[in-house]
Amino acid sequence: MKLLIKNAGQLLTVASGGRPKKGAGMSDLGIIKDGAVVVEHGVIIDAGKTSDLKEGSYDEVIDAEGKVVMPGFVDAHTHLVFAGTREQEIALKIQGLSYMEILKRGLGILSTVRKTREAPLEQLVNTGKARALEMLALGTTTIEAKSGYGLEKQAEIKILEATKKVAAETGIDIIPTFLGAHAVPPEFTNARDRYVDEVVAMLPAVKSLAKFCDVFCERGVFEIEDARVILESARRHGFELKLHADEFTQLGGAELAASLKATSADHLLMASEKGLRAMADAGTIPVLLPATPLTSFLNAYPDARKMISMGLPVALATDLNPNAYCLSMQMVISLAVYNMRMLPAEAITASTVNAAFAVGLGEKVGSIEKGKQADILILDVENYEQIPYFVGRNNVVHVVKRGRIVV
Ligand SMILES: [Zn+2]
Repeated sequence: MKLLIKNAGQLLTVASGGRPKKGAGMSDLGIIKDGAVVVEHGVIIDAGKTSDLKEGSYDEVIDAEGKVVMPGFVDAHTHLVFAGTREQEIALKIQGLSYMEILKRGLGILSTVRKTREAPLEQLVNTGKARALEMLALGTTTIEAKSGYGLEKQAEIKILEATKKVAAETGIDIIPTFLGAHAVPPEFTNARDRYVDEVVAMLPAVKSLAKFCDVFCERGVFEIEDARVILESARRHGFELKLHADEFTQLGGAELAASLKATSADHLLMASEKGLRAMADAGTIPVLLPATPLTSFLNAYPDARKMISMGLPVALATDLNPNAYCLSMQMVISLAVYNMRMLPAEAITASTVNAAFAVGLGEKVGSIEKGKQADILILDVENYEQIPYFVGRNNVVHVVKRGRIVV
């Protein structure tokens, strides 16, 4: 199967030469006007100007005249598999209850945990699959997906097995993360230390089902020392590491992630300058999630401008979860531009190649370069600035996944 995409108004290669993009490099999308991409057996074999193409025969041709062609979005932080929805909490939040106060009332995450524990595997597969296919239609071709609504061994395994099935049945690359330390389950209220031991004890059983281990590190949930115990043990078991860090309070999550050489530290609204500096030195990627403060009525966002000026390779993600239900990386790009003052080009880099590095797939996806997997979007926009500009619109007209036109 040989595919040609030709005549692109702008081909955004986002070529990075095998590294995440930093500083001014984040604004360089490697644009080729009148661009063309040649794909064979699911792999990009050529990218350049349409006028420079040699004669060839193709099984399929997409004429992208007047459109933008770019790499598929990589959503580097989601909680894809869960049961139930939580729209009733919108009114409570408007009344002024915080995330932590909602949690203390047994609502919030613990209601999702109850429903997810009760749900049969098949229900989790079906709802997860429906979400993943919606994300694909919105241009997301790679998804990181965390467990963390089971909070006991069998339910965590069930979520990770459902995640594996969603990947197999949709053809989307899904990178699974074990987040057994997402919240302290009701059985362990006032016995957090014992639950930390429990999470450590789950690690061998979930190793074959997850690439990363992550911890929700926050005051009153899992403290720095808890996160360190879990992540150090996870590393000994062969997991790569991620951390929910410094979202509501400055606990030193950024410093911890850097000291453990975690692949990414995520959220980072309250991260200290010292922590960010340590992340830059350690190569830990900041994953920023602007849909989360939006849905929490927080007028506070991570300082993306500072991170970019410090040379950190910023990545973006939806943080899709029942508390912040956002499936669209195009929406996240608009939020990053309008709420965090990222330039449109920076936000696109953060949603493609930098996000690919944040999930350990930077060598395989995230840019249009020879030898990479052919995950490619055709968007009905005249130029890339229109992607954040058209707020809430789905600009995607075609999605190519591993060389096949799937949307
Ligand atoms: Zn999260």
